[in-house]
Amino acid sequence: MSFTLVIHGGAGNITPAIMNKQQEQEYTQGLKDALDRGYEVLKNGGTSVDAVVAAICCLEDNTIFNAGKGAVFTKKGLNEMDAAIMDGSNLAAGAIAGVRNIKNPIRLAKEVMLHSGHVLLSGSGAAEFAINQGMVMTPDEYFFNQQRYDQWVEIRDTNFTQLDHKGDNLKGTAPNPDYKFGTVGAAALDIHGNIAAGTSTGGMTNKRFSRIGDSPVVGAGTYANNATCAISCTGHGEFFMRAVVAHDVSCLMEYKGLSLQEACATVVKDKLVKMGGEGGLIAVDAKGNWDFCFNSAGMYRGMRNSDGKEVVAYYGE
Ligand code: ASP
Repeated sequence: MSFTLVIHGGAGNITPAIMNKQQEQEYTQGLKDALDRGYEVLKNGGTSVDAVVAAICCLEDNTIFNAGKGAVFTKKGLNEMDAAIMDGSNLAAGAIAGVRNIKNPIRLAKEVMLHSGHVLLSGSGAAEFAINQGMVMTPDEYFFNQQRYDQWVEIRDTNFTQLDHKGDNLKGTAPNPDYKFGTVGAAALDIHGNIAAGTSTGGMTNKRFSRIGDSPVVGAGTYANNATCAISCTGHGEFFMRAVVAHDVSCLMEYKGLSLQEACATVVKDKLVKMGGEGGLIAVDAKGNWDFCFNSAGMYRGMRNSDGKEVVAYYGE
């Protein structure tokens, strides 16, 4: 049986004009490391769920991405993270929203999926569950990052929220057009024929009122179903929630018989564009088809499969 892994590290205004050679190298390495981590799991016969967790943990531990250690700051100067995982073999899902001090939020999402009897836990309750499950809490300093801090200081006295991967059409929400880093995600097909997807994020810089984006919302930012596809999204979460993006791709395959690529293009390049929603997604299906699809200038992305093919890219074609 064959296997496939796709990952992303956020979409947005990612062009050669705003990336220098060193940044290109850092992103290439960061994406390759995550691909290698997930690939190892799949090569050894591990599950798509475990491959997704392995790849995402690697991205969460890397400060260049807005998740885990690199999570952006809220209006109050905190790091509040969201994550979700879904198992396409049985439609089980687990998610956490607005959690602090968790080193790898995707691991906690998996714990929720397997051991809570619930799908989505938030805030202090999610932390309590994490402690009950024996997860180690990580001090605030672990999440301190000068670049993220500076991004926040720029706008903390305003009521702007800043998408980490700002594109040009987010009027009123983002004063700096050059921000380009983002949320992370992975989707995988394993040798058992099962698919899974996961997403992890720090959300938006300077977010207030316990704002939650699409990433931990099953069907919006994350979805997996063996009958159709496994999807992880990145983009302006409010639009992705209203368009129920990940589930919409699945529905187009299930009810209209569209291919993976056709379904992704319909949602990302047509429906979302008409709504003004910027971003993209990564996708696999149970036949080993995979896709990257985005309507922004670029998306940090990678793919590695059992045919020996490997792709790492960030700019648009
Ligand atoms: N979708 C995420 C959110 O709105 C942000 C991102 O993709 O970078 O929280």
